[in-house]
Amino acid sequence: MPRWNAQYLILKQNNGVLLCPDHFCDLCFTDTFQRSASMGELVKVENQVRAFHEKCKPAGSYYGTKLFGKDKKTRLILAPSTSHTDEHFPFCCGCAEGKNEELIECQSCVQSFHLSCHGSYFGNQNDLKKDEKKNCENCMFNTQMRVGEGVLVFTNTVFRAARIMSGGRGAVIVEVLSTKTKITVPLKSLFCPYPRIANGIFNQMALSKSYKKHQNELVLIKAIFEQRAVFKPNIVRKIPSFKCKYQMHKSVHRYMSGEAESLIPVNGNVEIVTVGKFGFGMIAVMDLNQKIPIGEYIGELISKPECDRRKNLGEDSHDSECMFYTFESDVFVGGKKRKIYIDGAQIGNELA
Ligand SMILES: [Zn+2]
Ligand SMILES: [Zn+2]
Ligand SMILES: [Zn+2]
Ligand SMILES: [Zn+2]
Repeated sequence: MPRWNAQYLILKQNNGVLLCPDHFCDLCFTDTFQRSASMGELVKVENQVRAFHEKCKPAGSYYGTKLFGKDKKTRLILAPSTSHTDEHFPFCCGCAEGKNEELIECQSCVQSFHLSCHGSYFGNQNDLKKDEKKNCENCMFNTQMRVGEGVLVFTNTVFRAARIMSGGRGAVIVEVLSTKTKITVPLKSLFCPYPRIANGIFNQMALSKSYKKHQNELVLIKAIFEQRAVFKPNIVRKIPSFKCKYQMHKSVHRYMSGEAESLIPVNGNVEIVTVGKFGFGMIAVMDLNQKIPIGEYIGELISKPECDRRKNLGEDSHDSECMFYTFESDVFVGGKKRKIYIDGAQIGNELA
């Protein structure tokens, strides 16, 4: 479910702006890939302030025929909300536990939940008790699933591993992995646990009587949960053209413009190298004695509370792509030792 931490999104390393939901991928954001969510090409949703990466096409959605904007792009039309009265998943979608507390069946999808696990009433659960329409959080936020995603579908007496193949206008074709058969099912009958509880859900299924005779189904389910746990969106990240160039140290410029060679000597002791997809790394080119200077670390000087605030925001936002460039160091001011914190996220040099 999309949890939006406005303060976190306006940190400089996260674009320095608060993005409205038209400017990040709803699915990547929900999957806690917050940096990827705001990058790459987006397709907007018709009549809603929402957008998705082209690669993150919501299951059951289709492209409209009307063209919009300067670049004449079509918009996505999402699957309509439906009601779901068939089989419900027998464990809570929030905590993976079973009937230790009353399980409420979502009226719009396959999920079940405990009242105490429903985070969207913000402590006022009496409101939910009174509410006639009992929707899970996913249905309240109309959370989507990607085409291609591994899911569970109830067919032939148990929930089985399946993959979303295609489909539009609300109906979805899934391939049931055990039988390799393709079936058309309502979108809302598919179950896809939040990655953080997938392990708990799997243990519950493995222990339940219904799977005694379906051990090979468990192997397939384990595989799709594992794939989901290591899934990362493959989003092409452009260096934004609006970046204020003067904020960057000239050495970084030289590197970015291709003027500098792939190795930038910092001061003869160390060199900056490219480390695959991780970006840049630093290696020593000779044995370094203790206390030998290795270079200047340029960045924004921030206080400890501000440093902690930035770090905590990343944790609170559950951003699995959270990155920090804060360097902690001791300086001597008038003979007294003081700790300083330098954040090289935006204004940095080759060391930062
Ligand atoms: Zn906007
Ligand atoms: Zn995406
Ligand atoms: Zn629960
Ligand atoms: Zn639901």
